[in-house]
Amino acid sequence: MSAFDDLYAANAEFAKRFGNSGLTGRAARGLAVVTCMDSRIDPLGLLGLKAGDAKILRNAGARVTDDVLRTLVLAVYLLGVERVLVMPHTDCGMTKVTDSDVHALTHDRGVDTRSLEFHTVPDQGEALRHDLTRIRTTPFLPEGMPVAGAIYDVRTGRLSPIDF
Ligand SMILES: [Zn+2]
Repeated sequence: MSAFDDLYAANAEFAKRFGNSGLTGRAARGLAVVTCMDSRIDPLGLLGLKAGDAKILRNAGARVTDDVLRTLVLAVYLLGVERVLVMPHTDCGMTKVTDSDVHALTHDRGVDTRSLEFHTVPDQGEALRHDLTRIRTTPFLPEGMPVAGAIYDVRTGRLSPIDF
């Protein structure tokens, strides 16, 4: 028995019905989505996508970090991505704490996280504006590539485009 047996069992069933062996690693819809790790978000489902359509980049808060930029560069130049949607969401845990709060919480558990930046989100609109600007102005991605922001409402399933 391992902590992962349920997953391996589910996968055995999944593989019996697997029909995607013809897909390639290129994003068929030319899309990359940067979104949060929040377990309520089903990025493919909420955007009408299926396996093979898009690159999905997830982290806490849907933040455009150095690693997200690195991944977008690879997605654009190697894997067919031509547009990027940054998609944070309502009720995000990252909007409810500061980096200092997280350091204090982990300190209480005997862990020193002060060398980590958590990119917490005191102002979601401001963070989204910052992250869109970061993608639009990086010298590493094509100038004029469509980059959009939209907030996903975890209570209604509705996506609200945010125009910056
Ligand atoms: Zn979140």
